[in-house]
Formats: sequence, C-alpha cells, structure tokens
Amino acid sequence: MGKVPERAQWSGNFGEWFHRVISEVPIYDIRYPVKGTGVWTPYGFKIRKEVVEVIREELLKRGHEEVLFPLLIPEYMLKKEAEHIRNFEEQVFWVTHGGTTPLDVKLALRPTSETAIYPMFQLWINAYSDLPVKIFQIVNVFRYETKATKPMIRVREVSTFKEAHTAHATREEAEEQVREGVEIYSRIFDSLGIPYVKSVRPDWDKFPGAEYSVAFDTVMPDGRVLQIGTVHFLGQGFSKAFDIKYMKADGNYEYVWQTCYGISERVIAALISVHGDDHGLVLPSRVAPVQVVVIPIVYKGREEDILRTCREVVGELEKAGLRVKLDDRKEETPGSKYFTWELKGAPVRVEVGPRDLDKGTAVLVRRDSLEKLTVERARLVEETKTLLERIDSDIKDRAKRWLDERVVRKESLEEAKKLLETQGGIVELRWCGNTGCGQDLETKLDARVLGWPYGDACSPEGPCVNCGSKANMIIRVGRSY
Ligand SMILES: [Zn+2]
Repeated sequence: MGKVPERAQWSGNFGEWFHRVISEVPIYDIRYPVKGTGVWTPYGFKIRKEVVEVIREELLKRGHEEVLFPLLIPEYMLKKEAEHIRNFEEQVFWVTHGGTTPLDVKLALRPTSETAIYPMFQLWINAYSDLPVKIFQIVNVFRYETKATKPMIRVREVSTFKEAHTAHATREEAEEQVREGVEIYSRIFDSLGIPYVKSVRPDWDKFPGAEYSVAFDTVMPDGRVLQIGTVHFLGQGFSKAFDIKYMKADGNYEYVWQTCYGISERVIAALISVHGDDHGLVLPSRVAPVQVVVIPIVYKGREEDILRTCREVVGELEKAGLRVKLDDRKEETPGSKYFTWELKGAPVRVEVGPRDLDKGTAVLVRRDSLEKLTVERARLVEETKTLLERIDSDIKDRAKRWLDERVVRKESLEEAKKLLETQGGIVELRWCGNTGCGQDLETKLDARVLGWPYGDACSPEGPCVNCGSKANMIIRVGRSY
C-alpha cells in the first residue's frame, strides 16, 4: 500500500458538510422541535455508545466508580457556592410546578452536578479512611444557551455529559489527581485519534469555583477551536461551601481537596470532523459500528456461490471479534452500496466477485484512502486486522499533522490577526500575564485566549505582543466555537 493521501479538501463549507453528514448518515436528527436539542439515531447511538465505552473504560481502569445522581437540584443547594452560581445563573432551566401546584422549592435541571453531588459527599466523607473518593456519571445536563445553538457543539440539552468528581485528603493528592485526569483524557482522545493541545485556561476563563482549569482543545476543519475536555482543580472552595471534611489523626477536621473533570458529545463532533472527508465519515475501528462491510459483486449464474463465500467471510471475521455487516440488498448496485458505506465510515470494505472465486482471493478497500488491496482468501482475516490497525494509525497521524500545522508561533498582533482570518487555528504569542492586557488582546484579535501550554510553561525572550512590557509566558489564542 502506498502513501496515505492528505485528507480530501472540503469542497464546500465545513458547517454545511457537518450538517449533511449528521443528517444523511444519519447520526443526529436536529428536527426535534426544541431548540438546542437533537435525537441520536440508531447508527449515531452506536457510535456514541462506543465512544462512551472508551471513556468509561479509561476511568474504571484508574479506580473511578460509576454513579447516578438525580437530575433535579433544589435552588438552595445550587446557590451554595457563590461564584459557581453567579456564572451559571443565566443558564439554568427551572422546574417550578408539579402539575398546577407551585413547588415550595424551585428545582433546577442540573447544568452540571457539583451542587448535586457535594451535599452527598458531606454525608459520605467523615474519616481519612473514606478518602479518596473518585466517582463519575454519564448523564444529560441542561443549559439555556443564548448564543446560536449548533448540533452537538452548542446545545441546550447536553445529552452525553461525563463528569468525574474526586475528593482527597491533601492539596498534593488532589493536584496529583488533576495530572491523572489529564492523562486519562489524553488516552481517551488518543484512542479516538483526535489531536489536541492542553492549555491552562486564564483566570478569567476558568471553571466557576475552580482554582485553575486545564482544557483540551482541537481545531475543526474551518479553523475554529473546539474545547473537547476540561480538568479542574477545585481546591477547598466547594468543600467549605458544602462543609465536606474529615477527621485527621490529631483529631482536628480538615476540608477535603477536590477536582472535577468533564467531557461531552463535543468529542463525537470532533471525531466526525477531524477524520471525515467529502465522501462522509471516516471512523477509527474502535468506535465504528460496522468495522468491515462485505459486499458481494454478483454475477449472473454465480449468485449463489458468491453469496455463500461472502457469508463464510462474514462468519470468519465475526469469529475474529470484528463487527461485520453483509450488505446483500438485491435492489442496490455495488456502486450504491460503496456510496452508502463510505458515507457511514466503515473502515474496511471487502468485495468478493466471480474473479475472486476463481482465483481464491478477495478485495479489501480502505475507507480513508479508498485504496484497493487484493488478498488471498486464506489470509483474509489476518490481512483485514492488520489493515484496520494501519488505518487507525494513519488517520490519527494525519489528523495530528493537520493540527500541528495549525498551532503557529507569531511575533505580532498584526500577524496573529492575519493568520486567524485566513487559516484560523491556534496562534501562540508572547504575553505579560496581565488580565487587563489579555482581555484587551481578545478584543483586538476577536478571539479567545485559550491559556498557556500545560506542563511546559516557558518564559520567552522579548516583550508582550500587546502592551510591550516584559513577556513572561506564551499564550495560545484562537477563534472558538
Ligand atoms: Zn501585555
């Protein structure tokens, strides 16, 4: 197999492409008559299920336990942590009536679950031996978005919100947990082949109530930045507000140290967008509902032989643990089947025709590059498995290369602005670290300060690109969703 071609250029506008793919595959139906919500179709739900499984597996492996909290949060609980509620207040949906009877206490539909979970932490945590607590849930949350909604990206019902919440005895342990959270998220995005940069968000853009937030951002094909995951160090702000403490060896009480981290269906939007091309979806095998589609190339007089061989091929591939589909629809031509499965993103297509029967071969076609490979029938399973691995690693590399080219260091605001207006992506700039200057820079560039590189902060030589005083860090800036 030759070199993998670069991703096909978008022949149209990315927004249109995204809408077309999610509605034609179909993955997510936006015709449901409530703004900012959508319906996962059967095929979309299968992709979602596989992605959720990747997330769940990584968390379970690292000692997290899954829980399920109620959707409703009483008003007095939601309002306990002042900064948190100040930021969410305008976004909360309220339940005020039971039938026609006004409720004594207004109930919020969770916009996120800190204020639902931490009152229970207060009951569960008493002794040092109760720590650490590491839990997560995968639920829906509601936010009254006032900006224009976008399917899966800016929604009023986030249908797939994975939130993890942890509590620890010391600051050091909680900060160690932040590092673990970042590592877990890296593994999740890596196994989906989604490239990312990790940034510590500036103070004015951190999670409400957190001491600091680490965010994962990727760049979509239109050059806009999409936040796909965040990890927050909460310090003791919430434990003090919710009175969550444990008794130390000396008999004194200490408030616990907390972290929380979240991922939503934006990760699925990113998955679709960073790998897809003009033909439709390109899915890594880990999450493809159909990993191999088998298509009989029927020929008059040999229909039965060909179909029988195809069924054998399906049986062998299934036995090897693969998700396989035989597309034996009689009313469709092979060409229209190719079209369907390219759109749906099945990583490998197997074709069996009369010539293959005679020669004891089969044809494999990879979805990402559409290259064909003739293999011996006897080695089909082995070759298919190798090819799937190769495709996974190639699409991951290609997406990473694409992102790497879109994280660019610039020396002036003018250059940065020009780049953001043409190719988009992420610009790295020298910055003084002053909040006023950072916000001014956001206005001038009409962009968002994403923060500084997580884990490798550097002190650059030279002046801040905005105010001219001494720079003491590199910040990343991009136009975001
Ligand atoms: Zn400055």
